[in-house]
Amino acid sequence: MNMPLVLPQFLDRAVALYGEKDAVHCEERVFTYRQLNNRVNQLSRGLRELGIGKEDRVAYLAGNSLEMLEGFYGVFQIGAVMVPLNIRLKPEDYVFILNHSEAKVLFVDQDLYGLIKPVIDQFETVKHIIVHYKDQETLETGYDDWLATYSSDAFDRAELDENDVCSLLYTSGTTGDPKGVMLTHRNNYLHALSTMHHLRVTDSDVYLHVLPMFHVNGWGSPFYYTANGATHICSRKSTPESIFKALQEHKVSILHMAPTVLNALLLYHDQHHPVINQDIRVVIAGSAPPPAFIVRVEEELGWEFIQVYGMTESSPLSLISTIHSHLTGLSKNEQTELKAKAGFSMIGSDVRIVDENGVEVAHDGKQVGEVAVRSHGVMKGYWKNDHATEQALQNGRLLTGDMGTIDENGYINIVDRKKDVIISGGENISSIEVEGVLYEHPAVLEAAVIAVPHEKWGETPHAYIVLREHRNATEQEIIAFCKQKLAHFKVVTSITFVNELPKTASGKIQKVQIRDAYWEAQGITGRLV
Ligand code: ATP
Ligand code: MG
Repeated sequence: MNMPLVLPQFLDRAVALYGEKDAVHCEERVFTYRQLNNRVNQLSRGLRELGIGKEDRVAYLAGNSLEMLEGFYGVFQIGAVMVPLNIRLKPEDYVFILNHSEAKVLFVDQDLYGLIKPVIDQFETVKHIIVHYKDQETLETGYDDWLATYSSDAFDRAELDENDVCSLLYTSGTTGDPKGVMLTHRNNYLHALSTMHHLRVTDSDVYLHVLPMFHVNGWGSPFYYTANGATHICSRKSTPESIFKALQEHKVSILHMAPTVLNALLLYHDQHHPVINQDIRVVIAGSAPPPAFIVRVEEELGWEFIQVYGMTESSPLSLISTIHSHLTGLSKNEQTELKAKAGFSMIGSDVRIVDENGVEVAHDGKQVGEVAVRSHGVMKGYWKNDHATEQALQNGRLLTGDMGTIDENGYINIVDRKKDVIISGGENISSIEVEGVLYEHPAVLEAAVIAVPHEKWGETPHAYIVLREHRNATEQEIIAFCKQKLAHFKVVTSITFVNELPKTASGKIQKVQIRDAYWEAQGITGRLV
């Protein structure tokens, strides 16, 4: 008989095998897997008493914490749907997502309550708001007190089917309005199995949650680390100082990060020389960082770097840059070059590069096409948005909106988002490639390259640059630097120096926002994408 692949099994396994092992350290508090499971049972009972059942949406506005971790399992056990909210949105975005998802309950961290307070009366479906009180001393009834009123005995779990939707994850909104992605138990379960294999997760692992659990980049971690009895380290703080401190204190072994956060760690390391924990075996990041950056991480911090590629719509990961043995004849430099691309299809994913007719392009590492994913992780669809679903899921594949190439070994290079490609004199320029060169300049801290209108060429690349503290460089110097390293048509034609760049909550630079503001300021509305 086939067993349905449903997520509560991961916690069951951890309790059976690792019941007395530390499951989670959350600031001052430590819970074993048995204790975590007890709280999960209490939470499920509490939710059921509030009238929450199968398919009901339960939203969370919370930082990386015990409460968020137990929330996943507490919600899944009753067959409800987890709707994690990004903690960096504006009040009106919460109104939109909560009403759009028709959430019935909202859990919120005490220190985030102020974000929703002004708009609570606009929530149309939320019946209960439960606050995670941090300071139990000063408040009469807190979340823990509420949990404590319920039994922690084994819970009479709802009947779950592996194709049930268990989460509604809103995309980052890097390119427009966030969309609600419906992921099933099966999506998340198989994604977790594949990821734990590729990352070689074991019960000796100690994982520091730096990427937010509310975001798909940090999404699978509550599943694959739990299934293996690894220890979760949660902290609501994530400054470079607090991260280095936590790494050391907890002997963290594995990290996932946005390159912008890794960049901040490198900078802090330059300035403060913190002791670096030697237990870290690998750091995983997405978003195509350039080779020079990977070299810095591996040499200065001493952490092996692995690049992954994914998106909310595919649970998320589908490519990983692990170098396979048939490629190990490569020099260190060649391996780094390869790792700066995106990687091979992971187990359970079949990633192809297709032209506009859906036909696969040649495996020559040159021809650019759209990245199309078939995998166990591909979403059921967008919630209440059939039009967007039909556009994204075509001929059994998820069309990602990203452009890439594939070489003769099947190694995929993510060139750029379709929307970010700059079309200059008929040539396609990858904004990521140009940014990679800018990041090699010693004065550049952050860079974003966008298309700007040009009379002769149609578009040219324009850079927005944040300089490192105490470093200076002029526009001419940086352009001259690019000329040494890039084909002439790819060289940025102009630069705007800024103090910061707009980013999403997971640290992604919002190039569409920068570009739209630039084009709007020029009074041009002609760009089609
Ligand atoms: P929205 O869809 O709302 O505009 P988003 O696409 O940023 O936001 P996510 O699902 O968080 O939302 O991000 C997925 C995207 O991130 C991918 O489609 C791709 O553009 C980018 N990305 C992820 N990994 C990589 C990588 N390794 N290299 C380059 N780009 C990457
Ligand atoms: Mg997207």
